[in-house]
Amino acid sequence: MEDCIFCQIINKKISAEIVYDNDRVIAFKDVNPQAPVHILIIPKTHIPTLNDLLPEQTELVGELIQVSKELAKAECIDQNGYRVGFNCNKDAGQTVYHIHLHLLGGRAFSWPPG
Ligand code: 5GP
Ligand code: ZN
Repeated sequence: MEDCIFCQIINKKISAEIVYDNDRVIAFKDVNPQAPVHILIIPKTHIPTLNDLLPEQTELVGELIQVSKELAKAECIDQNGYRVGFNCNKDAGQTVYHIHLHLLGGRAFSWPPG
C-alpha cells in the first residue's frame, strides 16, 4: 500500500528504529512513546484494521504476540509486567490503518484505560 506509513517503514522508504525483523513481521520503536518501552509490532502484510483479519491470518497475529513476548524479555520488562494491545477504528484511537500491536512497559498502567 503506497500511501500507508507502516508499509513505507516495511519498504524502508521511511526510517524507523527497527528492533525485530523477519519475513512476516517487523517491530520498531513508536515515534511518540507513551511509556519508557513503546514498540509497535506489525505484519508485513497490509491489513487495515482487526475487522479485516481473515481466519487464515490467525497464525500471523499469533506470531505478533510471540514477538511481543520476546521483545518484552529483551527489554527486561517481562517480570515487572507490560501491556499489549490493538486499537481498532476511531473509538479506540486508531490513527494508522495498518494493524499494529502496541507493546508498552517500563512503568505501571492504570485499568481501565481512559
Ligand atoms: P494507533 O493510534 O493507530 O493505535 O497507533 C499508531 C502509533 O503509531 C502511534 O502511537 C504513533 O505514535 C505511531 N506512529 C505514527 N507514525 C509513525 C512513524 O512514522 N514512525 C513511528 N515509529 N511511529 C509512528
Ligand atoms: Zn500498510
